[in-house]
Amino acid sequence: MKKIVIIGGGIGGLSAGIYALKAGYKAAIYEKNHVAGGECMGWNRKGCHIDNCIHWLTGTDSSTSVWQVWNTMGAIDENTPYADTDKFYSSRLNGQEATLWKDLDRTERELIALSPEDEAEIRKFIQHVRYAESCTIPAEKPMDMMKMGDYIKMGKSMANMPKVMKEYGKIDLNGLAERFRSPLLKKLMTDYLPANYTAYSFLVSYATMTGGNGNIPIGGSLAMTNRIIERFKSMGGELYTDTPVKRIIVENGKAVGIELESGEKVLADEVISAVDPSFLFGRLIDRSYMPKEFSAAYADSSKYPVTSGFQIAYKIDNGFSAEDTIFFGCEPIAIGGRSFDRIYIKNYGYDKTFAPEGKAVLQTNIPQTDEDFTYWKSLSKEEYRAKKQELIKEVTERIVREFPELDGRLELLDCWTPMTYERYCNAYHGAYMAFVTTIGAKQLKIKGVLKGLDNFYMAGQWIMSPGGLPIAAISGKFAIQRILKKEKRSIEI
Ligand SMILES: Cc1cc2nc3c(=O)[nH]c(=O)nc-3n(C[C@H](O)[C@H](O)[C@H](O)COP(=O)(O)OP(=O)(O)OC[C@H]3O[C@@H](n4cnc5c(N)ncnc54)[C@H](O)[C@@H]3O)c2cc1C
Repeated sequence: MKKIVIIGGGIGGLSAGIYALKAGYKAAIYEKNHVAGGECMGWNRKGCHIDNCIHWLTGTDSSTSVWQVWNTMGAIDENTPYADTDKFYSSRLNGQEATLWKDLDRTERELIALSPEDEAEIRKFIQHVRYAESCTIPAEKPMDMMKMGDYIKMGKSMANMPKVMKEYGKIDLNGLAERFRSPLLKKLMTDYLPANYTAYSFLVSYATMTGGNGNIPIGGSLAMTNRIIERFKSMGGELYTDTPVKRIIVENGKAVGIELESGEKVLADEVISAVDPSFLFGRLIDRSYMPKEFSAAYADSSKYPVTSGFQIAYKIDNGFSAEDTIFFGCEPIAIGGRSFDRIYIKNYGYDKTFAPEGKAVLQTNIPQTDEDFTYWKSLSKEEYRAKKQELIKEVTERIVREFPELDGRLELLDCWTPMTYERYCNAYHGAYMAFVTTIGAKQLKIKGVLKGLDNFYMAGQWIMSPGGLPIAAISGKFAIQRILKKEKRSIEI
């Protein structure tokens, strides 16, 4: 039986492992951390659970091919309970609040009532969100393995997407905001994702929720990751945690195994890397193997920025009336050379498993990018700790100013930064998604096979911008389909 070794036990690596076993191969995953799951993670503090990934899980509509992948991985099934949330998020400005509801009619009605002069633009926006509901991620097979029939089927199912691309494909979120006259609606358009994101990505994100394909499984990210690990192990997979990989062994242009940090060598027929590519190229294999798409992206962080976050979690009384996610303006908070005058709170009270009776977890996240990472990285250990403490104080003060009922009721659970993601996952600039799709940048889409290196495949969210859980999940399946194709076996799996 062919042996496949997989480096990295995040969602991409676990997917590769499960599909390898499904295809009849032997699979072993090597993960550097004490637990697998990578960025799809949660942890406990003071009797509460901090869920640090799923804001929405694309692929919860059982008619989609991404659902099939999640189901195969043991992540969700027909009986999975989802959070009963009715909105994407709200934005506040000057005492007014606007909300993107799950119910698009309600959003349309309320936004028009808030800003009648924007009626035409609001109706257009809502109509195109409806169109974007048809957008799904093709997960049956890699695009380059699709046949004419597959393209026709995909074109039919996403018949309305060209309208979205025509209207919103060439502007970013700043451009989208400019179309509205109301200052509040401008904020509503730019609050959620980085303002240099393409506008269509934002519409697709919202549409994933309104169309019922982006729910939040109860129990959150860690519970889902644990179900996937369980599936992998129950199929006979071997998972080695606390086992960092030092390098990939290459002989005569072929990957023949891996060397662990301990010095032990593990030979294999095929090697799949599901770690961050910035760590793969230069650390696990020679940087000269890096596909030119990645070199170009790393060389230009203005065109290919990444996102991370400065995050804080608190324990609160469950009686707090504000639900879900609310953005609001605040006195500027300085981090390095940048200043932030809008922050948000997200109330996790929708999931009773996250906190003891009567309590809930509240989180905030100030989006960070490459420049902020450079700042965090420049700090000494003492400066880093001091800056975190200073920011916790400032952010807490801003939250209390906006929500006075929280005064004295915010108990700090934890605080983490872009450095946490670098340390924990070897994540490039602390990124937890792949490159942001900006206007003028090519959307990264790579096969994950390397010139001059046989028996090697890449998995993980970086194979396709902007990454995220569904891309990580399908990337592992795709890597196995490439092996099957090489062996001239059926790729239907
Ligand atoms: C705050 C936050 C919110 C998010 N929200 C969403 C959301 O709502 N929806 C969504 O779709 N996505 C979301 N994401 C993104 C999602 O978590 C990631 O896209 C996904 O988990 C990436 O999976 P991956 O397997 O590609 O990479 P990773 O999770 O980074 O996995 C890589 C693994 O490789 C391991 N590794 C690294 N180096 C080595 C080595 N030398 N040896 C062995 N192992 C190694 C790492 O420890 C890690 O476990 C969010 C992420 C965060 C942090």
